[in-house]
Amino acid sequence: MNAETLLNRLKDLKNTFETEEQNLTNLDRAIGDGDHGVNMLRGFKAVDEKASGETISDVLKSTGMTLMSSIGGASGPLYGFSFVKMAGLDHDEITQENLKEYVNTFKDAVATRGKVSGGEKTMYDVLLKATEHLENGHQLTEEDLQQFAEDTKALEATKGRASYFKKDSIGHMDPGAQSMVYVLKVLSEDV
Ligand code: ADP
Ligand code: MG
Ligand code: MG
Repeated sequence: MNAETLLNRLKDLKNTFETEEQNLTNLDRAIGDGDHGVNMLRGFKAVDEKASGETISDVLKSTGMTLMSSIGGASGPLYGFSFVKMAGLDHDEITQENLKEYVNTFKDAVATRGKVSGGEKTMYDVLLKATEHLENGHQLTEEDLQQFAEDTKALEATKGRASYFKKDSIGHMDPGAQSMVYVLKVLSEDV
């Protein structure tokens, strides 16, 4: 995947988040404050309007800076910072071979910024499983990603607003895990 394709796909996430806004809102209403759909749509509307770049790194950096300045809430800095971190990798294209470097960098950035580890019922759980999946030599499909998000249902939240729900968070999917499915799909599909 070259820079132009990446930029187009990231801009097109605006349409995905338009379609999925209500779904994400409902997930965040159950174990949060009900704004994750609005937050993600606001962020990717801004990406559609403002993100630019001629190289993979420039596109990722521009996207990250735009997300940081447009999304309120916990997810804005987490997504924004992670895209800026991925911009630090130096490749002309994203390929099946180097994809694991991007996903691994994304994972480490969320861990650093969110002070989070696996099993805390966040977007991080999807990144962790995606990294393991790629490192085991598998392709990352949308079905795999969706399963990783579904797996957060069984967990008790210990980070973010969902942690206030304690054991009542069990049985609900984490909203950030679901938005991460859409974001990782764009990075990993048909590269
Ligand atoms: P807010 O919780 O501030 O309203 P959002 O609703 O946009 O922000 O995002 C909530 C999502 O952010 C959660 O579903 C979770 O995946 C993620 N999240 C929250 N806190 C953390 C954290 N410390 N580390 C990793 N992810 C987190
Ligand atoms: Mg919220
Ligand atoms: Mg909020």
